[in-house]
Amino acid sequence: MKTCYKVSALYENSEIKRDVNIVVNEYGVIEDIGQKVELDTIDREVELDGIVFPTFVNAHAHLELSNFVTGKQKIPLWDWILEIVHKKRALNPNDYKIAIEEGFNFFSERHIGCIGDIRSVLPNEPFFDEYRAKCIVFYEVLGYVENLFNEKFEQLKSFLKHYNGSKGISVHSLYTTPLSKAKAVLEYAKSRGLPVMMHLGETEYESRLLFNREIEGFNKIFSTVNFEYVDVKSYREILEKLRLSSNDILVHCVEFKEEDWDYIAKNRIKVVLCPMSNLFWSDKLPDIDCIIEKGIEFAIGTDSPATNASLDILKDCDLLIRLSKDKERAKRKVFLALTYMGRKILGFSMDVFCKGAKFDCLFVRNAYDEDTLLEYLFINDKIIRINGAN
Ligand SMILES: [Zn+2]
Repeated sequence: MKTCYKVSALYENSEIKRDVNIVVNEYGVIEDIGQKVELDTIDREVELDGIVFPTFVNAHAHLELSNFVTGKQKIPLWDWILEIVHKKRALNPNDYKIAIEEGFNFFSERHIGCIGDIRSVLPNEPFFDEYRAKCIVFYEVLGYVENLFNEKFEQLKSFLKHYNGSKGISVHSLYTTPLSKAKAVLEYAKSRGLPVMMHLGETEYESRLLFNREIEGFNKIFSTVNFEYVDVKSYREILEKLRLSSNDILVHCVEFKEEDWDYIAKNRIKVVLCPMSNLFWSDKLPDIDCIIEKGIEFAIGTDSPATNASLDILKDCDLLIRLSKDKERAKRKVFLALTYMGRKILGFSMDVFCKGAKFDCLFVRNAYDEDTLLEYLFINDKIIRINGAN
């Protein structure tokens, strides 16, 4: 059974193609695509009068925390960490598995086709159905107590050696992992060609710890170890010490100043913005105009329910656009981040509409150009998911 989808407008990485035919076989795989395709063997035709575009990318989530209930807002970072640790300790492996599956389904139902997931538990098996969505899992190694950290790092290394799914590494942050250890993890990742995802510059508590040496909160969490002081005065100096590269992804970055962004741009480090999650801490949000003006490649993420009650990525997009002084430019960049740039940053193929790819995409009726599509997307939710296997 072959279906020919007759598409009025196809959005492909900032370009719109008109009157495209997409031939999909019974397995939901694209067999042919173009303005002229072989129609002799087609069993049915489906008219898609509107615009077709790729599924969304949620570039930063913690699926294992999917069943957390968002706590009190604007509490100190340190109290929040204690609360998270307390909640996580109450979970067993099956609770994690259920949370990951439920989180995955939650996002699938909200038009998300690719997820960048941070995971602290090592699975016995991958928890994802590769057919429905593509996920890369950044396995986390963190801790301040040396022997415990080393033990976890060794476990992670042996797991990564044998696990063949899409994978990366996360060190969580520099308030939960000493900089010297983070550096060792980054070097290991580089030697294996694995991408790294790290939270950085998320809250002012972190900045005050790193640059002003305000250790009271840190000591509340890590009562048996000392904070590892490093002589740095800016995030740029931290990035220099970590020697991050274009393979690496920083999340949040609301505390960054212009010189930090210059370093990111120069070294082509990637960024994921999670503005709805940032509102949990304060009113400080990402400097979207600076990021766009410097040509920094960014994606968008929801983060977890621990800081974001809605997990609606379109709300993150809408907030970013509202923050910008040039809303038309921001709309286009944000949409690109939500579709193609997110894929690029997570290391997925950007060939969404090509022979051999699964036909799994989004469709908005009666929209034929980018401006109308973006209007519908962020004002009226009119998105339909089209899956070739339907
Ligand atoms: Zn996060």
